[in-house]
Amino acid sequence: MRIVKFLFVIILLLSISGLAIFMYFRFSALDTGSNFFNDNLRYKFARYPMMRQALGLHFDGDAKADYLGDRYKNISIKIVAMNGLEISDETAKIFAKKVEEITGKKTIYLFRPGIKYEASINMGDLQKELEKNNSSPSSQGAIIYVFIASQKKDDSANLGSTLLENGIVIFKNSLSNSMRNDTQINLDTHMSSLLLHEFGHQLGLGHNAISGCLMNAQTEFSDGGRLLEKIGDFCPDEKNQIKKTIL
Ligand SMILES: [Zn+2]
Repeated sequence: MRIVKFLFVIILLLSISGLAIFMYFRFSALDTGSNFFNDNLRYKFARYPMMRQALGLHFDGDAKADYLGDRYKNISIKIVAMNGLEISDETAKIFAKKVEEITGKKTIYLFRPGIKYEASINMGDLQKELEKNNSSPSSQGAIIYVFIASQKKDDSANLGSTLLENGIVIFKNSLSNSMRNDTQINLDTHMSSLLLHEFGHQLGLGHNAISGCLMNAQTEFSDGGRLLEKIGDFCPDEKNQIKKTIL
């Protein structure tokens, strides 16, 4: 009888400490600032899509192992555009080619049914849309979701954004307004460059202040359209940074 009681206490203590550790991880993961979990463990857990769900790891870079690690052989880009804001086949093709170059993985793109047009978009609504569409990466490959939306609510200067750990949003109306010459050819190059900038965030890159580099913060805001005209790819510094990513 005594042994049963003893075992019960041990199991109870283990359960309580397990729960405490889980809560500590989840709480630490709420932001990406420096803390023990984020500095030492986050990346190790984020490699597994199931752990990302369990611990709430849904920030920039949390899915980078899907794209740069050796778990998946292919990448699918799933594109959802607001009705009337379609993205050209050429833009998708340029972006897919760049993703393939930088990750070394065969990359395809698919257009999914569009969503209702709204003049300005609330990021929370788009996040719900992504969560609705989100399927775990399968043995077939990793997934990037791309949303083409009108403009960000209360921030028309913002041209693009990441969404959770595997989504990208392009604010097409804001991008068109930031360009000098809104022709289809320009839009293809600008939009694919902006897509690549956001994908850079999902690979774990932050902003830099180097004027000729794609991750320059300015490429994402107001006059970014003009900058994106000249910068169509990651600069050597950024490519090195991606290569050095520990997987
Ligand atoms: Zn950015």
